[in-house]
Amino acid sequence: MSKIRQDDLISSIADSLQYISYYHPKDYIQALGRAYELEESPAAKDAIAQILTNSRMCAEGHRPICQDTGIVTCFVRVGMDVQWEGATMSVTDMINEGVRRAYLHPDNKLRASILMDPAGGRKNTKDNTPAVIHYEIVPGNTVEVDIAAKGGGSENKTKFVMLNPSDSIVDWVLKTVPLMGAGWCPPGMLGIGIGGTAEKAMVMAKEALMEEIDIHELIARGPQNRVEELRIELYEKVNALGIGAQGLGGLATVLDVKIKDYPTHAASLPVAMIPNCAATRHVHFILDGSGPAELEAPKLEDWPAVTWTPSAAATRVDLNTVTRADVASWKPGQTLLLNGKMLTGRDAAHKRIVDMLNKGEQLPVDFTNRFIYYVGPVDPVRDEVVGPAGPTTATRMDKFTDQVLEQTGLLGMIGKAERGPAACESIKKHQSVYLMAVGGAAYLVSKAIKASQVVGFADLGMEAIYEFEVVDMPVTVAVDSSGTSVHAIAPKEWQAKIGKIPVNAG
Ligand code: SF4
Repeated sequence: MSKIRQDDLISSIADSLQYISYYHPKDYIQALGRAYELEESPAAKDAIAQILTNSRMCAEGHRPICQDTGIVTCFVRVGMDVQWEGATMSVTDMINEGVRRAYLHPDNKLRASILMDPAGGRKNTKDNTPAVIHYEIVPGNTVEVDIAAKGGGSENKTKFVMLNPSDSIVDWVLKTVPLMGAGWCPPGMLGIGIGGTAEKAMVMAKEALMEEIDIHELIARGPQNRVEELRIELYEKVNALGIGAQGLGGLATVLDVKIKDYPTHAASLPVAMIPNCAATRHVHFILDGSGPAELEAPKLEDWPAVTWTPSAAATRVDLNTVTRADVASWKPGQTLLLNGKMLTGRDAAHKRIVDMLNKGEQLPVDFTNRFIYYVGPVDPVRDEVVGPAGPTTATRMDKFTDQVLEQTGLLGMIGKAERGPAACESIKKHQSVYLMAVGGAAYLVSKAIKASQVVGFADLGMEAIYEFEVVDMPVTVAVDSSGTSVHAIAPKEWQAKIGKIPVNAG
C-alpha cells in the first residue's frame, strides 16, 4: 500500500501544466519536423516553420506555445491500494488547486479562459478552474495521471455521429474533416472513439489523444488488427485531402490518427472524432508515494533545426498609411509583413460593438481605415510588451462582419483559418480583406508586437480592444477584396496534386 500526499498531487498537477504550456511533446515536434522536410506547399511549409520556431522559442523562454492555454483535462487512474495521507481535500479539489497554482504562476502566468454559467453570464473564473476530470479505479498502489491543456479552437471542431452498423467509418471521417475547416490549427492529430455509447465514444476520442505519435512505426511494422488498419487508412486518406498546415493546402494535415474502441450495442455504431491542434499539450506522470512527479526538461537538440525568418518575397505593408487601393491589389496566398498600428477585438468586443451600433452609441475607438486583429493575448510578464498573442478563429466573428464593415469603416481583419461564405461576400461588398496569421505560433507573433495599450472595453480583460504597434508581423492574404478565399482554393489544388483522392470522399 502506498501513501499519497495531498501536496504531492497538487504540486505535480501545477508543475505538469506549467511544463506543457511551454514544452511540446517530443513526439509531436519530431513528427512535425518530418512533415516540414516532406512538405512541398510553400505556404504550408512556411506555417510549419513558424510553428516549429515558436515551439523552440517557448521551450527556451518558458512562455506559452499558444495564447489559448487551454481547458485542463485529466485522466486519473487511482490504484485500489492507495491511501491519501492527511488529505483535507477531495481529489478533484486537489487537482483544481494544482490548476489554480499553475495558471496564476507569477513567472509564467497562463491565460484564464474558463467561464462559469456557460449558458448565461459566462463569467471568467479567473484561475482557469475547474478542470474536466475522468477517474478510473484500477488495481495497484499508484496514482497515474494523463493531463492535457486543450485549446478551444480544436475542441470546437469535435464531431460525433451514430452510424448504422453497416456504414463506413472511413467515409464519414473523409466527409467530415473538410467540414471542420482549419480552425483546429492543423497539422495535428485526430482522436477517434468507436463503440460503447455516445458519451463513451467521446471520452475515448479524447483519451486517444494522450497517446504518443507512432504512425510511422505502425506503418513500418504493419497493422495487426482492424483498428490499426483503420488508423493507417485514415492517416493516408485524410492527408490526401490536401488541407495542409493551417488549411493553406499541403501534404501534412494530420501527423497521426489515434483510435480507441469498446464493445457496443448491436444496433449502434457511435463514432466520435476530436482533433488536436498545433498546440498539442499533454504529459503523463505516476505518483507512488515517494514524492511529487519529476518532469525532465527536454533537450533543445530534440527540436528540428528550423528557424523561420520572413520571406524575401513577402510584401511590407504600412498599416498607418495603407489604402483601399493597396488592399485591392493583394492576392489570395500572398504573404505580407505588417508594420504600424492595428486594433484588436474578439468575441465579447464584437458583441458589444454591434450592441452599441444598434443603439446608436459612439464606439470607444474610430475604426475608419483600420485593421482589427482577432486576439486575446496572455498577460505580459517581466519586460514583455504583451504575452503570446496568436490569432483566434475568425469564423466566430462572421456574424458581426457585415455590420461592422458597413458601419465603422473598418478596412481589414486578421485572424485564424477560413471565413464563411457570408463573410467572404461582405468582404467583397465592402472591398475589404481578411488576413490570416498562424495559429500555434503565438509567442513568435508576440515578438512582432512592440507596443500595446488598452483603448476600449477595459473591463473585458484579455477580450478588451487593444492598440498594438507591430513590426514585420507575418500574415497571409486569406480572403482578397474580391471575396476569393485561399482556404477554398488551396486544399483543392493540393488534393489534385496529391492525386490519390478517395472516390468516396464526398
Ligand atoms: S493552436 Fe490553434 S486551436 Fe490550438 S490552442 Fe492555439 S489557437 Fe487554439
